[in-house]
Amino acid sequence: MKKDAWDWISDNEKMIIDASDKIWNLAELGLVEEKSSKYLANILEEHGFTVEMGVADMPTAFVASYGKGDPTIGFMGEYDALPGLSQKPVPYQDPIEEGAPGHGCGHNIHGVTGVMGAIATKVVMEKHGLKGTLKFFGTPAEETYSGKVFMVRAGCFNGVDAVFSHHPGRFNVAGLGSSLAMNSAKFHFYGTAAHAAATAYVGRSALDAIELMNVGVNFMREHVVQEARVHYVIEAGGMQPNVVPDYARSWYYIRAPEREQVNQIYDWVLQIAEGAALMTQTKLKVEFIEGLCNELPSKGLSELVIANMREIGAPEYSDEEMTFAKEMAKTVTKEAKSELLRATKRPGWEQLVEDNIHIDREIHDPWDKGIIWPGSTDTSDVSWIAPTMEFSTATTTLEAAGHDWQWTACCGMSIGHKSLIFATKVMAGSAVELVTKPDLLKKIKDEHAERMTGKRYICPIPEDIKPPLEMAREKASK
Ligand SMILES: [Zn+2]
Repeated sequence: MKKDAWDWISDNEKMIIDASDKIWNLAELGLVEEKSSKYLANILEEHGFTVEMGVADMPTAFVASYGKGDPTIGFMGEYDALPGLSQKPVPYQDPIEEGAPGHGCGHNIHGVTGVMGAIATKVVMEKHGLKGTLKFFGTPAEETYSGKVFMVRAGCFNGVDAVFSHHPGRFNVAGLGSSLAMNSAKFHFYGTAAHAAATAYVGRSALDAIELMNVGVNFMREHVVQEARVHYVIEAGGMQPNVVPDYARSWYYIRAPEREQVNQIYDWVLQIAEGAALMTQTKLKVEFIEGLCNELPSKGLSELVIANMREIGAPEYSDEEMTFAKEMAKTVTKEAKSELLRATKRPGWEQLVEDNIHIDREIHDPWDKGIIWPGSTDTSDVSWIAPTMEFSTATTTLEAAGHDWQWTACCGMSIGHKSLIFATKVMAGSAVELVTKPDLLKKIKDEHAERMTGKRYICPIPEDIKPPLEMAREKASK
């Protein structure tokens, strides 16, 4: 039956690639992906799915459903771009529009593998009269505002038995690692403006509060778990030196392996901020932006996805594509490539450097069991609700780190397209197996239930916090 899904994908290759290129060209930022989300929702509607647009208080979030009854298989798709990463599909840096957004994380492909994977699975279910429900989740703003967490909080994923998601990457693998839980918050300090030379004594500097808070946090670092990551930027720090700043603002990310650790560190950071306000006689306002959980892996889904990858086989590349990869590799030094690959912990990475390999064609068994990767993703919150697998396929060259122009370029040309088709087949093949093999699905669900023993999902975003639509619109307008 999987063959029917794969044939449909092969027959519709052009349509699938066109959809990915369309999103790549739109390159809309998080929470304002209006055209991208509508475009994908329309494709699903045309293929017999029922679409509910604007779920979880986000106009660009949607759920598309097909069929009824058990099992319910979920597919996720992202479509938000990154600021400043506009780039033509060429192997040297050349933006389409200077400073404009671009798909430097390949979410144009992310969205389309999910949409087309769901449709290909539906084609099989229809042809063979299979029972079950398919749900595609259009999940906005992965990069900045964690759209999925709001969707989890709104109950969108309730009743789903397993969820697939594909992320472009440098390797063909379905990992077993975890990620860091996180909070994101802005700290607004309000002081009193004054002439900085003549009457500074009547002023109260909001910038002083920001600086003291940062000092406090930097002294805190030694006394939190080693894997914790705390980073900040100063978004506003006054206008010019001769005016005591009456307003200043910083933006913090606080990450740690366990949700509880984030809560503890965050509480400490709040106390430091209050302390800074006291010391400077300024007023503090805390704006909570987002919070998310650490990821729970699924061994069962990983095995299923990798078996499908091996059955399909990794893409082959033309001489033209290899030349493209070789040209692009010149933009990164050998030392930088070594560091990038060392960080991935991919077994045998040294050989990839030694042999000047630019695209990894291997299909790997996961090498990251028990590893906590130093990033965070809103896919994690979904993994607390149902067994979830976000697998990756080799979409870019090994020399590109991600969130860079190289990724935008690869995700808009044929190297990315091949990965897109491959991943769509993997997604559909795996989903068809879950629809047709209840025992396998049960085993995967049992594993998840075991991982959840003693745990309960508490949404890290407080109930009164809504998706930051205003902030997103303001950012996009710049
Ligand atoms: Zn991404």
